[in-house]
Amino acid sequence: MNAYLSSVIENVKKKHSDEPEFVQTVEEVFSSLEPVIERHPEYEKADLLNRMVEPERMFTFRVVWMDDAGKYHTNIGYRCQFNGALGPYKGGLRFQANVNPSIIKFLGFEQTFKDSLTGLPIGGAKGGSDFDPAGKSDAEVMRFCQSFMQALYRYIGPDVDVPAGDMGVGGREIGYLFGEYRRLKGAFENGVLTGKGFSFGGSLIRPEATGYGAVYYLQNVLAHEGEDIKGKTIAAAGFGNVTWGICQKAMQLGAKVVTLSGPDGYIYDPDGVATQEKVDYLLEMRASGRNKVKDYADKFGVEFHAGEKPWGIKVDVIMPSAMQNDVHMEQAKQIAANGVKYYVEVANMPTTNDALKFLMEQPGMVVAPSKAVNAGGVAVSALEMSQNSERLFWTAEEVDAKLHGIMKTIYTMSVEAAEKYGLGYNLVAGANIAGFLRVADAMMAQGIF
Ligand code: GLU
Repeated sequence: MNAYLSSVIENVKKKHSDEPEFVQTVEEVFSSLEPVIERHPEYEKADLLNRMVEPERMFTFRVVWMDDAGKYHTNIGYRCQFNGALGPYKGGLRFQANVNPSIIKFLGFEQTFKDSLTGLPIGGAKGGSDFDPAGKSDAEVMRFCQSFMQALYRYIGPDVDVPAGDMGVGGREIGYLFGEYRRLKGAFENGVLTGKGFSFGGSLIRPEATGYGAVYYLQNVLAHEGEDIKGKTIAAAGFGNVTWGICQKAMQLGAKVVTLSGPDGYIYDPDGVATQEKVDYLLEMRASGRNKVKDYADKFGVEFHAGEKPWGIKVDVIMPSAMQNDVHMEQAKQIAANGVKYYVEVANMPTTNDALKFLMEQPGMVVAPSKAVNAGGVAVSALEMSQNSERLFWTAEEVDAKLHGIMKTIYTMSVEAAEKYGLGYNLVAGANIAGFLRVADAMMAQGIF
């Protein structure tokens, strides 16, 4: 490997030995950049890569809240404003018990390249808390969100940093966060958050955008192979917002999602989550707060596999849409042995680096990376910001058409970038390179800091 690239990776490994997810994502992204660094010696001269792996700013804050029994709890809040070269920092908030600095930093780094790939004016950020929303009452969630915003509001704003949802943060949480921001600022700056309710500036199609965008991206991949989505079977994971959007769009286009997963195991529905009743039931499952995918099996009388992952099922398309590092080498081997042709990542970094490399080496397998596939969510967030600053609403058809176009552009930019740097048809490297180049250009132009 190029000496400069390996020295930067070594540096990151040494400095961040206690942050395995962050090291993993840097290695994954940078492993695609060799031909770029060789062709652009100016990047090494400006030590661009060592600058890029250091967040512009990252902070933690105390979040104290009272539960319904009057007991106090203290959580850690995080915001990592990773890179603002392309626009206001942009990225979600994750509320999950396992949130730690490594996870926030890996997500912020990924977000920087993903946001760049959308072609829209947004920088990269991520934040969240180790707050566990499971089993909390509505009032507890509200008090937590209010306390979280009291600590964060000074450091965000429509032109500064625009948080949104991620795991554990949906429309309800964004509503409470926005209410508190508005109260503290004494101003209706609704461009400060995205994923809002429609009545106070949310964008139509935002709730569907990540899942729909992923399926639109898949359509581009299939078209390249001369295939159509109609009739395809898809193994997905999770049953949250993203997977719901995938099921809905796949159903509309004549494909079917046959697996879902949760912390308790996975379900296999050979007929597919492909009726409106079934797709709508995912919303009920999520709203119940039970966090159990077995509910689906009980309701529709399909197989439930306790404590297992769905990656052993023979399907046309695998879409890991739940969480990071969900697919390890063992599952990757099973996927290859099953002759699956399309491996389309959806969750952020759902594949370990060795498993991803293995899958990419399988002859005939097409691998698509999450930072491109799931970028439709943040892209529609950027469209929400545009609507807020113009003080108007676009129709669902208008937003959907833009999302469709953006997904096509992301796909095309990735294909072209890989080809330009001599890597052939490589969607993973292409997304890394295209995302990198836009950030790199902006950083180079803005001087050394
Ligand atoms: N958390 C989502 C993501 O991973 C959405 C971020 C946003 O809309 O700002 O891209």
